[in-house]
Amino acid sequence: MVQKAEKIWFDGKLVPWDEANVHVLTHTLHYGCGVFEGIRAYHCTDGRSAVYRLREHMQRLIDSAHILGMKIPFSLDELVQAVVDTLVANKMKAGYIRPLVFIGDGVMGVHPGANPIRLAIAAWPWGAYLGDDALLKGIRVKTSSFCRLHVNTMMTKAKACGNYVNSVLAKTEVVADGYDEALMLDTQGFVSEASGENIFVIKNEVIKTTPLTSVLPGITRDSIMTLARELGYEVVEQLFTRDELYVADEAFFSGTAAEITPIREVDRRTIGAGQAGPVTQLLQKEYFRIVKGENPDYDAWLHEYSI
Ligand SMILES: *Cc1c(COP(=O)(O)O)cnc(C)c1O
Repeated sequence: MVQKAEKIWFDGKLVPWDEANVHVLTHTLHYGCGVFEGIRAYHCTDGRSAVYRLREHMQRLIDSAHILGMKIPFSLDELVQAVVDTLVANKMKAGYIRPLVFIGDGVMGVHPGANPIRLAIAAWPWGAYLGDDALLKGIRVKTSSFCRLHVNTMMTKAKACGNYVNSVLAKTEVVADGYDEALMLDTQGFVSEASGENIFVIKNEVIKTTPLTSVLPGITRDSIMTLARELGYEVVEQLFTRDELYVADEAFFSGTAAEITPIREVDRRTIGAGQAGPVTQLLQKEYFRIVKGENPDYDAWLHEYSI
C-alpha cells in the first residue's frame, strides 16, 4: 500500500489526499493517453533535502506530453515549483514524486476533443523499489514473451501511461514465474530494457547500454553514463543480444525507482560471479554519493528545498 501523505497538488491547488479524485469517464482512464514522471527527493547526508535532477524530469514530462500532442497548461518553472510545493506541504524531507498529466472527462470518443488537460502531483515515502536485498545482492531476471514496443506502434520516448500495459504484462508474467523483473527484447530481437528500467552490461571493463531506439531515455541512464565516463570507463551505446547479456561480466538495471539494481541471473544463467560485480558496486556507491549530496562536483543535479 502507498503510504498516504497529506496533500496532492491537483490542477494548481494543494488538496487533501483523499479528495484528489476524478470522474470514471476521465478520457485517459479509458484510452491510456496520459504521461507521467517518477522522481526521487533524497535526504542528504549533511541534512539538506534535494530533488534529484528535477528540471530534467519536468522537461521530460513536457516532452512526453508534446509527443502525445497534449499541451500542459503550466510552464517548466511552474512545474518545478509545484513539485517543491508538494514536498513542503507534506513536510517530506525525502520521497518519491509522481506527476501525472491526463485528459479529463468531457467527450467520450477516441478523439479527446477539447477535454481539459489535467495535472496531479503526488508524493509518498518509497524505499528500494525492488527491495534492499536487490540493491545489495542483485535480482533474478527472465526474458519476457512480450516484446518492447515497436517505435511506430507506441512512442517509446514518451513516458506514457498506455505504454505501461506492455510493462504490466511483462512484469506480471515473470513475477508469476518466480522472477524479480522482466527483460524485454525489441521487435528485432535485440535487448531493449526492463518493465521500467534501462539496462547496462559490462564486459572487460567496457560499459554498454542500449541506444535510444526502443527505450525510454532514462535520467538515471544518463547519470550513469556521465559518471562512468568521468571515472575513466569506456561507455558505448550499441544494440546487443540476450546471449551477450548471458556472458557479460556484470549487468544492472537503472531507473529512478530501481536506482542501480545488480542483475545476478538471467533465464537461469548466472551473470558473472552471481552477485553485484565490482564496476556495478562502484557505480552504485558513486550514484548514492551524488544523490545524497556527498559529491560537490554534481551539486548542479540537486534541486535543494527546505521545509
Ligand atoms: C521511467 C523509465 C525508465 C527509467 O527512467 P529514469 O529517468 O532513469 O527514471 C526506464 N524505462 C522505462 C520504460 C521507464 O518508464
